[in-house]
Parts: sequence; structure tokens; C-alpha cells
Amino acid sequence: MKHLLAVIGDPIVHSKSPRMHNNAIQALKLDGLYLRYHLRDKNELKSTLFSLGLRGANITLPFKEQALKIADFKDEMALKIGSANTLIIKEKQIYAYNTDGIGFLKAIENFINIKKALVLGAGGTAKALAFMLDQKGIKVCVANRSQEKLLHFQNYENYTYDKLSVQEYDLIINTTSAGLKDESLPCEAKLLKELCKKARYAFEVIYGKETPFLQLCKQNKLECKDGLDMLLWQGVFAFKLFFEFKDESKDLSIIKAMKEALLF
Ligand code: NDP
Repeated sequence: MKHLLAVIGDPIVHSKSPRMHNNAIQALKLDGLYLRYHLRDKNELKSTLFSLGLRGANITLPFKEQALKIADFKDEMALKIGSANTLIIKEKQIYAYNTDGIGFLKAIENFINIKKALVLGAGGTAKALAFMLDQKGIKVCVANRSQEKLLHFQNYENYTYDKLSVQEYDLIINTTSAGLKDESLPCEAKLLKELCKKARYAFEVIYGKETPFLQLCKQNKLECKDGLDMLLWQGVFAFKLFFEFKDESKDLSIIKAMKEALLF
């Protein structure tokens, strides 16, 4: 097997990555297999990569920071974001990349003329998304329920929800897990409704369900998108790294196969 790949995380049973990648491997008739691996101890990440004989891996919660830490080569974007979701192993060296950020930008490509964005949540995903928006010249404000994680966002405007004033943000992004397993909103409905009145677009990182955040934004007539395209595009970019596809000639076939995989 030339390309043995895996997604590694805790928990991992829900991950759609094996389906997406294996379907693309088959569609493109490549020599590869993509597995899932449940890792419990972050200190075993490096030894696991080598003992499984992996050529590449996607690293998911809660090991993305550790993935960057163990790498011998760190891509500039991963380094700036502070975490990696894609590792390549070549000649016993680990190369770390972050495709969540570029996956997100690709997903919001049809959102036009964004000058100011409000990021709700201050975890790992917020770090990646705030960095990418900032790189695009978009002014970013980060808001979170608690102060602690906001310390990472000193270079941006940042507030806890109780101190956030209602201003005009073109795009509101929910990066929190509020609404994932429950029916909660990331912040008070009253505040969100006021913010929606002045916004045009909403993006939800969660996919596969209409969260209360998305419902509220839709009711308030914002153009909305969930995290499915971000999931797809981070997968496409990771796949291209695994198989060293440098140009865009295979993008359409990869995304078609990955989209199909999400239907069954
Ligand atoms: P983290 O644990 O790093 O951060 C979670 C953030 O959400 C924190 O700021 C936390 O606030 C906040 N939060 C959690 N629960 C609530 C709640 N009930 N109300 C308000 N705020 C809350 O997680 P990640 O950033 O890594 O991941 C966040 C989400 O993004 C997950 O649902 C994940 O599945 C999704 N995701 C989707 C991707 C895609 O491809 N579509 C890719 C990557 C992630 P506090 O600091 O106060 O605890």
C-alpha cells in the first residue's frame, strides 16, 4: 500500500473523513487506504504515526496543537494559526499543515464585499478563521462567553458577550460548539438578533444540522451557510497534500467524490 492514511482524534467514531478520502481514492484510482484511529494520549501521537506506518494523517480534536508541536517542518500558515490538521510523513520527518483555514475561505468565496466580521467563540477554529480573515484584509472582532480564551486574540478587537456593543458586521461566524449536541445559541438571542439586523451573511462551522444559530440568522434574512463546504474543502486540500497534487486539475473530481461520500 503506497498511501496509508488515517484520521486521528478523540472521539473519532463520528468522523466523515474516511468516507470522503476513500471515495476520492477510488474515484481517482489511486493506491491508498484511509483509516480512523482513536488516540487517547496526545503524547503517543508521534509514535502512533510511525508505528502505523502512515504516509499522512488528518488530526482532529483535541490534538491539533500537539500535531504542530511534534512536526519537524511547520508550514507557515499552520505556524501562524498555531495548530495543524494535516500531517505528511516522509523519510521519517513529519510535515505539518493547516487546511481548515483555506477550507473556510473557499467555503465563503461567494460572500462578497466583506469588510468586517464577527467571530463568535475563541477556540482552535476561531484562531484559524480569524487569522485567515485578517490575512484577507477583513477587520475581525472576536467575542466569547468567557475571558480566558480571548487572551489569544490580543491583536484583534475582542470582547466577552456582555461587553459586545451592536455594530455593523458584514459577516457573523459561529465557531462555538453551541447547538452541536443541544439546542443552545452561542450568546443571548436578543444580542444576536440585533447583530443580525446590521449584517448580511452568517456562517456556522457545524454541519449536518440546522443549529439554533443558523435558524435565527435565517429568520433575520441573512444569507447563511453551514460548515459542510468547509469540511469538504479542508478535505480536498489535505487530499492534495497526501497525493502531492500541485495544480487544480483534479479538484473537481476530488470534490465530486467527497460530496458523494457525504450522501451515503
Ligand atoms: P474549542 O473547544 O477549541 O472551542 C470551543 C469554543 O466554543 C470556546 O470559545 C467555547 O467558549 C465556546 N463554546 C462551547 N460551548 C459553548 C456554548 N454552549 N455557548 C457558548 N460558547 C460555547 O473547539 P474548536 O474551536 O476546535 O471547534 C469548535 C467547533 O467547530 C466544533 O463544533 C467543531 O466540530 C467545529 N469544526 C468544524 C470544522 C468544519 O470543517 N466544518 C472544522 C473544525 C471544527 P469558552 O472559551 O467560554 O469555553
